[in-house]
Amino acid sequence: MPHSLFISDLHLSADQPHSMAAFRRFIAGLTPQACPEPSRRAEALYILGDLFDYWAGDDDLEDEFYAQVIAALRGLAQHGTQVYLLHGNRDLLMGETLANACHATLLNDPALVDLYGTPTLLSHGDMLCTHDAEYQRYRAQVHDADFQRQFLAKPLAERKAYIAQLRERSIAEKQSKDSAIMDVDDNAVAALLREHGYPRLIHGHTHRPDRHEHRVDGHICERWVLGDWHQQGSALRCDAQGCRSIGF
Ligand code: MN
Repeated sequence: MPHSLFISDLHLSADQPHSMAAFRRFIAGLTPQACPEPSRRAEALYILGDLFDYWAGDDDLEDEFYAQVIAALRGLAQHGTQVYLLHGNRDLLMGETLANACHATLLNDPALVDLYGTPTLLSHGDMLCTHDAEYQRYRAQVHDADFQRQFLAKPLAERKAYIAQLRERSIAEKQSKDSAIMDVDDNAVAALLREHGYPRLIHGHTHRPDRHEHRVDGHICERWVLGDWHQQGSALRCDAQGCRSIGF
């Protein structure tokens, strides 16, 4: 049956070999060698943010580790699976050069797609975590086009050092924050669903894989949360009959 796959929060980096190994297995399972019947292969792979643990800019795609990830996605695209990339908070600096190297299409956050007849809104999900005012202030700053232009004008090594510093601070802050603050806000979810005509919603970011139902203005909307790849791979498969999570 024609179907699409959704993943997010892989946080791939050279110092996390487990998640890279899981990513390689996942991609290998989608190739014609593993799945010779074309109709059984995924039509599309949507990566809903945080593919990389960090992305300092498209001038880093020559890096040996990143080149492997890019080659894997490009191979998938060349075998006929459409690859879509959406920015996460860790890899929000992914640009067209990277997308072209992966033979992928960059999506806006959120992106409304027709998924086998069901309008479906795709998002990384961090914009929905509005309980965390401090994070939303930071998010507004780093999404600012001028801020990004100035940041990308710095040398790559300087950008990497800055990001490493930021990550350390973020780890320390997360430990002191209430976990409810870091989940999505139901009111923000309702507002987003209302704005887009009550679609189904698929997002990641919170690392709390689950299926939820939201009743908004009398509409019942499904919300699927994707899992992270810290312990094992995690994906969502959607076809005309609906979505289900798949492990591997
Ligand atoms: Mn995230």
